[in-house]
Amino acid sequence: MKDQQSSSEAADLYGVSAWGQGLVHVLPNGDVALADPAENGATVPVSLPAILEGLNERGIATPILLRVQSFLEIGLRRLNDAFSNAIAATEYRGDYRGVFPIKVNQQAEVVGRLVQAGQPYHYGLEAGSKPELIVALAQPLAEQSLIICNGIKDDEFIRLAILSLKLGFRTVIVLESLKEFEIVKRVSDELGIKPLLGVRVKLTQVVTGKWASSSGDRSSFGIGADQIVTLVERMRETGFLDCLVLQHNHLGSQVPNVIDVRRTVTEACRFYSELRRLGVPLAFLDMGGGLGVDYTGEKRASDNSVNYTVDEYAAAIVETVGYAMDEAGHPHPTLVTESGRFVVALSSMLIFDVLDATLYGVPQRPDLTENEHHFLHDMVAIEEYVKPGRLQECFNDAVYYRDEIRALFRRGQMDITQLATAERCFLYILKRVQTVIRENGAGEALSEALEGFVDYYHCNFSLFQSLPDVWAIDQLHPVIPLQRLNEQPTRRAVLTDITCDSDGKIDSFILGDGIHKSLPVHDLEEDKPYHIGVFFVGAYQETLGDLHNLFGDANVVTISLTGEGGFTIEHETEGDTIAEVLSYVEYDPGDCLDAFRKTVERAVAKGTVNSAERRSLIAAYKDSLGGYTYFE
Ligand SMILES: *Cc1c(COP(=O)(O)O)cnc(C)c1O
Repeated sequence: MKDQQSSSEAADLYGVSAWGQGLVHVLPNGDVALADPAENGATVPVSLPAILEGLNERGIATPILLRVQSFLEIGLRRLNDAFSNAIAATEYRGDYRGVFPIKVNQQAEVVGRLVQAGQPYHYGLEAGSKPELIVALAQPLAEQSLIICNGIKDDEFIRLAILSLKLGFRTVIVLESLKEFEIVKRVSDELGIKPLLGVRVKLTQVVTGKWASSSGDRSSFGIGADQIVTLVERMRETGFLDCLVLQHNHLGSQVPNVIDVRRTVTEACRFYSELRRLGVPLAFLDMGGGLGVDYTGEKRASDNSVNYTVDEYAAAIVETVGYAMDEAGHPHPTLVTESGRFVVALSSMLIFDVLDATLYGVPQRPDLTENEHHFLHDMVAIEEYVKPGRLQECFNDAVYYRDEIRALFRRGQMDITQLATAERCFLYILKRVQTVIRENGAGEALSEALEGFVDYYHCNFSLFQSLPDVWAIDQLHPVIPLQRLNEQPTRRAVLTDITCDSDGKIDSFILGDGIHKSLPVHDLEEDKPYHIGVFFVGAYQETLGDLHNLFGDANVVTISLTGEGGFTIEHETEGDTIAEVLSYVEYDPGDCLDAFRKTVERAVAKGTVNSAERRSLIAAYKDSLGGYTYFE
């Protein structure tokens, strides 16, 4: 009989109550479930394994990127409510006009949904490139919504931005350099239309966190104090000063500490006040991105967590700006943020199945015969003193015998069958040691040594395609098995992906009591799927991914929760087929098929393949071309 655990024990083990944000739950039957939190008119939690079964019946296979429509709207609403509450609470005399930075999730469905749900807030878009501006100009934005253009801009980009003003779009070109102003001036003169301009100011304050280098003197973006005055004078001289309405400051993403927000806003306000004093008609203060997500649920200023809520973030900005403007005697600016991560991170999760496992730890004691080498008997005898207080000694002894036996094998004094038995004895002792540790705990050194002996669970996904930041910048996301949480997990595993790259693994996990190098998991059962979910992957992951080993996009499904414990599919995008992925790297799938056919034909001519084999060879090749790139 398996050891049971309650749903609240499971939630504690995996830290769900800390990071789940009211969206993720554990049901009494051991399933992980999704629900809208109370602020959204709480819905009955819907079991994720049941959702997966429903999708599977409709022919949608894992890996799946699952998006929940209402979760997308929750981020948007929390952000706008936070600012409107802070504005009301401090009697701030200005508005908030957020914009969504398209680069954070460019999917048409996501941008479209955010624009629609953002209408009441006059929510706008931030475009960091020409293609993103093209996207922004195709959206039904509300009347007062802003389009903020950042990044390096050429003639074409600037022309389109200026022309769009004629259509009623409020498109602001944020100047990144003096040179860019000269292009804007020339294009504007040509068109006979005055632009709406912003200036990206380089602050001297440095923020902490992973993106520290995006802030301070050495940031590659923005205009420093020395050049700003020159720019203002040049604009005055050429009659463009009236166009400069927005000051932009972006300090990088996922700012961990709210004190950094206050410090940088204070400095931004100094620039704003001084520019106003020089006669610049600034009316918008844009603090860029940086509003972080508490991925770990630890509520502290660390790389994957933040020590503030969205309400505290908004209050820090609104209060600081209000106070600084009152001091300086300027009207309160319209506040803008370009919060991307916060708005979309929660909305999607990656779900995949475990295909196989490599287990370290043998539960049954291996049978030894009399004439087995005495090292093997010595190793098994360790079992008699596997007790709290002697665990390190047991581990050391087991490693010693194992290494001696391996040396004998290398010298030809032991055969492969004996070596295999020895390795099993070693894993058996390890398992015994781990069992005692689970009940009694262990010292740090031993725990660390044993981290090297966790199981590998081989999973059906590509880290490089679906979780690029986990690979590139050690981003942490909550990861949890989606079923059987009513049973105590008996194993600890690292999750490996199906690329043949040794970097393709997840080996850092958020649990209730901190960050661990392995995930508690259950023994796999024959013919029963074991699914794992990686949560809060809606920001940045979807298009930063690459085609390592030619694994393509996963299936993407958007669902909405019906409220009564059911769900409906709103949108479905099939993942890449192998033929699609091949054509991305310039193979012609038709040519590949032709080449394969010719090879088969030659084999037929030689008589090594008959006509029935010919048919099945070609059919297998064709089926694969049209199939999913992942394990089916
Ligand atoms: C990436 C980026 C953002 C988004 O930042 P988040 O931290 O995701 O909110 C905003 N503005 C600019 C200029 C950016 O480059």
